[in-house]
Amino acid sequence: MSGIDGLGDLGGKRVLVRSDLNVPLEAGADGRRRITDDGRIRASVPTIRQLSEAGAKVIVLAHLGRPEGEPDSAYSLEPVAERLGELLGAPVAFATDTVGESAQSTASGLRDGQVALLENVRFNAGETSKDDAERGAFADQLAALADAFVSDGFGVVHRKQASVYDVAQRLPHAMGGLVSTEIDVLRRLTEDPERPYVVVLGGSKVSDKLAVIDNLLGKADKLLVGGGMLFTFLVAQGHPVGRSLLEEDQIDTCTEYLQWAADSGVELVLPTDIVIASEFPSSSGSTSEPSVVPADAIPDDKLGLDIGPESAEAFAAALAGARTVFWNGPMGVFEFDAFSAGTRAVAQALTEVSTSGGLSVVGGGDSAAAVRKLGFDESAFGHISTGGGASLEYLEGKNLPGIDVLED
Ligand code: ADP
Ligand code: MG
Repeated sequence: MSGIDGLGDLGGKRVLVRSDLNVPLEAGADGRRRITDDGRIRASVPTIRQLSEAGAKVIVLAHLGRPEGEPDSAYSLEPVAERLGELLGAPVAFATDTVGESAQSTASGLRDGQVALLENVRFNAGETSKDDAERGAFADQLAALADAFVSDGFGVVHRKQASVYDVAQRLPHAMGGLVSTEIDVLRRLTEDPERPYVVVLGGSKVSDKLAVIDNLLGKADKLLVGGGMLFTFLVAQGHPVGRSLLEEDQIDTCTEYLQWAADSGVELVLPTDIVIASEFPSSSGSTSEPSVVPADAIPDDKLGLDIGPESAEAFAAALAGARTVFWNGPMGVFEFDAFSAGTRAVAQALTEVSTSGGLSVVGGGDSAAAVRKLGFDESAFGHISTGGGASLEYLEGKNLPGIDVLED
């Protein structure tokens, strides 16, 4: 599959690039929206810069949040255009629509090497439509803006959407460097990983991660389970979990995983202690004083919000010496300091795997946000995947439409 070089001389050409700029925003006191984590924008810069340096007129396509197929100022990409400009070190023109007059005049006003960002593609019903014709009609309008298409939004390549899939069928196309790096890393996790290979799973739900467990349990040497999903495993082992997150309908599945691990010799490591509190933390309300209990003794009126210190140490020890690690899902409610220690310990252990020459991969939007929030340097990890859903679907063994479409 050819990279950007395969598109030939891009000097003076208009190139549409689909990036993933779906960053979290928060309204400030002055009512203006601020980007709280610009990781995805920074990850998108190298490809945009590469196209710009090749002399292309670069037209960036992206989405933000889930607007309902029509303009909604709460999901405008305007603040993202500003931040992208800061990171590129050159102003980014912003079009206030995606394929309308503003997009057309912005695109035609670009000089060689200049960059524009079009308004949220999801302000157009055609973007996410299940109807091929409706999506295709929108893709026709997108394609009319440019001479070539570069797919670099790894976070959306599992979506059959107009700006990801249909537009690639209408223009000469190439895979951007971010997408190809992501695919290379994921391939290393699934095809012949260096051993020991440790998978760490956490986050909120077992049900979100079932297919990944299915696919990786047979490949990994150890599986460490933390986060909200651990409680369903504890119940499967017969322990009480109080008011902790529990997916009743997944208890049987967890029982099967425990059995499978025992039969296949995969070491499945569950926490032995848990940080509990009386209520789920909230940024406004009172957070009850956390305490630590054994994992088999969570009181009825409490809920587990992080793995305990003994478990954090055991997880770090299980990761020491690993040559390949895939981590998806925070170990606790890391958004609150009182429940972030488990996540911190796992992140720290991954950086040590990298230092000693192993491959450490962080996947998942919240996990990536967690390592940044906890102050880790991104370069301390082998790879931080920008696409939660897309990397999980790849690891599940599914075909990604946005990748397949680039293959012809
Ligand atoms: P990712 O985006 O990395 O795939 P998920 O979306 O699966 O991760 O899960 C992230 C969320 O899981 C975080 O918001 C975190 O607060 C939550 N979480 C972690 N541990 C718990 C827990 N014990 N109880 C409830 N929620 C939890
Ligand atoms: Mg998430």
